[in-house]
This record gives sequence, C-alpha cells and structure tokens, in this order.
Amino acid sequence: MKNDANPSNPAPSSKPTLRITGIPAFQDNYLWLIDDGEHAVAVDPGDAQPVLDELNKRNLTLTSILVTHHHADHIGGIDALLKHYSVPVIGPADSRIPQLTQRVADGETYTLLGQTAQVIEVPGHTLHHIAYFINQPNAFGAPLLFCGDTLFAAGCGRVFEGTFTQMRQSLAKLRELPESTRIYCAHEYTQANLAFALAVEPQNKLLHQRIESVNELRAAGLPSIPSILADELGTNPFLRYDNDAVIAAAVRRTNTRLDAHNSEVKYDHDVIFAVIRQWKDIF
Ligand code: ZN
Ligand code: FE
Repeated sequence: MKNDANPSNPAPSSKPTLRITGIPAFQDNYLWLIDDGEHAVAVDPGDAQPVLDELNKRNLTLTSILVTHHHADHIGGIDALLKHYSVPVIGPADSRIPQLTQRVADGETYTLLGQTAQVIEVPGHTLHHIAYFINQPNAFGAPLLFCGDTLFAAGCGRVFEGTFTQMRQSLAKLRELPESTRIYCAHEYTQANLAFALAVEPQNKLLHQRIESVNELRAAGLPSIPSILADELGTNPFLRYDNDAVIAAAVRRTNTRLDAHNSEVKYDHDVIFAVIRQWKDIF
C-alpha cells in the first residue's frame, strides 16, 4: 500500500487514509474516485476514459461502481469500465440502469474499501435518485455525501421527474446530516448558482463571503467542490425555504401571499421551494 507520509515503514495497524479525486469530464461534471492507494471505487462514471486514465496513472484497481441516478452523464462510462474490470455496480432500483448488480434502498448500507456507506433516497431530479453518506471520519477526516444532481454547491438539481414537494423533502433529509459533511456533487455549477442565490438574498453576508472565496478558487483553476454542509445551510436558497429572507423573496417574486392552510406553519415550505426552483429554471 502506498503511504505518502512514511513510504518505507507504514504502521501496520493504522487505517488506510482514503483519498477522493474529482475527475473532470464533459463540460462541468466531476466523476468521483475513492481510493485507498490500491483499490478504487468510481462514483457516477459518466465517461470511462478519464477514469481509466486516472486508474492507470496511479496504478489503482477498480473494485466497484456506485451510481446515484440514471442520467447518461452519470452512467455513460459503466459499460466500457466493465470491459476492463468485472466489478459490482451498485445503484437505485431503476430499470434505466441495466448494468446494476445490486440495488440499494433508503437506509441500506454498502461497504466500500472497508467503510460503510448509507443510502439515502432523494427523489426529485429523478424518481429513483439516491445519495451515499459515509460517516467514517477516521478514514476521511469528515463525513461525506455523494449526492449526484440533488444538492449542488449553492444550488440544487432541476426537478425533472419528481414533484417540488419530493425534492424539497429530499433536501430536508440532507439538511439533517452533520454540518461538517462534505458535499461531493456531480457538477461545477457553483458560480452560476451563487449568482442566483444573490438575486434571492442580496443582503446575505455569508453569501457575499462565499462568492468571494469561490471566485478566488475558480480564478486559480481550482474546483469549488466539495462544499461543506454548514456553508450550504447559510447560503443555499434551496435549503433555506424556511428562512425569512428567502420566504420574502418568494413572496415578492409571485406578488402574492403564500400562506399555508395549516395555521401552525406560517408559510408552506413546499410552495416557497417551488417558487424559488421555478425562478431558477428561467434565471
Ligand atoms: Zn442528472
Ligand atoms: Fe448530471
């Protein structure tokens, strides 16, 4: 096993320090690779060649493939990878992902590179979309979430197959994860998402700070992913459907009162979310 800190004498009992690599693909996708220096797991390999190049460059063996949803930019490389590596393919029970060898559902776990990943169903972008949550700080330093096209840095995926309510509820589940969770989403959409977030919340100080730091990263040619859930909670309008400023923006946008029928809840979260999401669609 490779051990950067002490290559000649790795401590035999120490846990492997797992590494995560974002492989850029297409216009703005990241194909994620998790490895222990020897074995690697590919998450949403939309294209095979960049994954194969990375595996070869670092002398890694692919041991499994994880899939979040059926879109081509997430599964398009699976067939070619399987020609080189006969490995299990794990994903949601969606017939549009014919390569699956194991279907996983909400609350189930899957062990990868000795670490437990929990499956969270997050319908909305597609009906069968799932995310993988790995809460193994010893191996990774922080909890991790691979969430495909559900939660983006400062944004969320388009609602293609589910309802706005489903998507809002899916994001509500992700809001409950530890604030230190690193969010590994599948697209570098952050700057465009932040521009929209600013239109929703022009007075949000955390948002202004985040725009500055993301602009610096991107100007230096660095990815803005992963983000940290704490930052999303403070700046991502799609996680802030119950925030006063976001509610006020939705009310202004529709020029109407969006009162819930339920007197316990001042505003219907689903309606606020739907207004914001539809606004973003044409922003
Ligand atoms: Zn997608
Ligand atoms: Fe995608």
